[in-house]
Amino acid sequence: TRATPPPLPPIGPRSYDSEMPNASRMYDYYLGGAMNFTADRELAERAKTVLPCTPSLARLNRSWLRRVVNVCLDEGIDQFLDLGSGIPTVGNVHEIVQRRAPQGRVMYVDYDATAVTHARKLLKGNENAGILHADIRDPDTVLEAPEVRALLDFSRPIGLLMVGILLYVGEEYSPAGLVAAYRDACAPGSLLPISVITTQIVAERDPVTHKQILDLIAVYADASEQIRDWSKADLAAWFTGMDLLEPGITILPEWRPDGSLEADNDSEARLLGIGGMGRVLS
Ligand code: SAM
Repeated sequence: TRATPPPLPPIGPRSYDSEMPNASRMYDYYLGGAMNFTADRELAERAKTVLPCTPSLARLNRSWLRRVVNVCLDEGIDQFLDLGSGIPTVGNVHEIVQRRAPQGRVMYVDYDATAVTHARKLLKGNENAGILHADIRDPDTVLEAPEVRALLDFSRPIGLLMVGILLYVGEEYSPAGLVAAYRDACAPGSLLPISVITTQIVAERDPVTHKQILDLIAVYADASEQIRDWSKADLAAWFTGMDLLEPGITILPEWRPDGSLEADNDSEARLLGIGGMGRVLS
């Protein structure tokens, strides 16, 4: 039997702590955003010192997010639940969606107060997009939230985005169990893209960057989220009960490339992020 997961910290004031660097604001800093504090910038600079291609890794993930949302739209999906959505930045999901499907619906979820505050401001007046301040490790709360139920129709396929989020969820909270809980709430035909960081591929192909990514993971010991190192096999197991879309689980630049971000595609970061997209079976 699986051990009971540790209790989740309460949502709210904790995330306003400007002294404690956090994943959301550091990612914003890598992407050139201004929604970060001195402590975030200092730790992000330490991260860049040990792994100089860290901003490329963030951009590769952001580019992958855009591509998977477009694939979902191509497949006829017009409603999205974006888990760990982050601070609004270039290429927000509701912008990609509503450009192509003006009535498309997007519910963001993040536990970081900075992300939530800025998303609320940005989404003011947008009836088809919203943000839930919640911890994605508590799927019942997320899935039963009245604002989620009001915006999304779970009897129709949705795009359930877990992009750049499960790298912060430790085994003690069972990422496999979380994916299964979200999957089970989705109608057949729903699409679930997942991207994470891995040291597995670089370990075999680039020893210098391998050492650097291990050092980056160590730097995040001083952030409010730690980085977990998942493998292709972990992702494959999380996709149980789903069909994997082509080209399966790959490094991010090799997953349906669209010709953008060529410099990043060729950077040392290319082997550090992996992703795949599952389709919920009927
Ligand atoms: N999904 C966006 C993307 O791929 O560009 C943003 C990814 S950002 C690296 C990760 C986000 O996940 C951060 O905003 C962080 O606050 C959020 N996050 C991490 N753990 C979380 C949790 N347990 N519940 C809710 N949000 C979480």
